[in-house]
Amino acid sequence: MYGGHITDNHMHIDPLHGIGIDAVRQFVRAGGTHLILVGKTAWDWDIDATTVDDFRNAYLRTIELAGRINESTEATAYPVVGYHPSEFVRLADAHGIAYAYEVGIELIDIWESLYEDDLIVGIGEVGRPHFDVPCDVLDAANDLLFEYLKTALRMDCPLQLHTEHFTAASFEKLGELVKKAGSPRKVIKHFSPPLPDIALDNGVTASIVASRDAIRDALARSKTFFMETDYIDDASRPGAVLGPKTVPRRTLHLLEQQAMSEEDAHHIHEDLVSKTYGVDMDTKPVYENVK
Ligand SMILES: [Zn+2]
Repeated sequence: MYGGHITDNHMHIDPLHGIGIDAVRQFVRAGGTHLILVGKTAWDWDIDATTVDDFRNAYLRTIELAGRINESTEATAYPVVGYHPSEFVRLADAHGIAYAYEVGIELIDIWESLYEDDLIVGIGEVGRPHFDVPCDVLDAANDLLFEYLKTALRMDCPLQLHTEHFTAASFEKLGELVKKAGSPRKVIKHFSPPLPDIALDNGVTASIVASRDAIRDALARSKTFFMETDYIDDASRPGAVLGPKTVPRRTLHLLEQQAMSEEDAHHIHEDLVSKTYGVDMDTKPVYENVK
């Protein structure tokens, strides 16, 4: 029987509007061990964020939440924070594109200091809105995305990207941008379709939504990808995304069916995770007195 770790590469936990840490307990009961805890938007913390400081407050809440998860469950959570494209669009609507862009640039310094202090393991989610927006808003989002790719290169830091629905052609376009930015090594396409080989060809690692067929399809193409649920933990949107048990359940099921080898599982859930995020998965990070 598989005795290794099982990692969900993109999970949100919302103690205010969802079931909070109980979702992590469900993840653990199903066999999950590690999660990349991606911060929700600032307004999910009931913070009406307009300034860089407001965003920083939201980040500290996410980091504290990771600390509580690590203290009170068997799981290990690693925080990742960013500037969600919806946050960018909302600020652009309320205060203009130039202001929203400027905030996006100023946030880089905060990410850098949190990353240097080992309070986050990466930046995310950042990128482009998945819904239609005016051209000038999309252009500014793309400019920011390019700045963030350069930041990821300079900091050698993982970057989880949120984008519109992706195809093979979108990976090629993103690949051009990644190259132009100097080829940062740790660009991750969150909510990726099962095209891990095409992602890798374009300098990107796919984080694949662990739906029934997607992981099987992905394994037939490459063994190098992450698995994720994008669990949103929102009581008002039940069933909007995969539940917290999905990654461990899917993994154990595929192992049982011999559709995934133990070697593949170790690679996906351990080697890739520890190498990309620079973490020792056998030590739980402590996040306390975060200021
Ligand atoms: Zn997400």
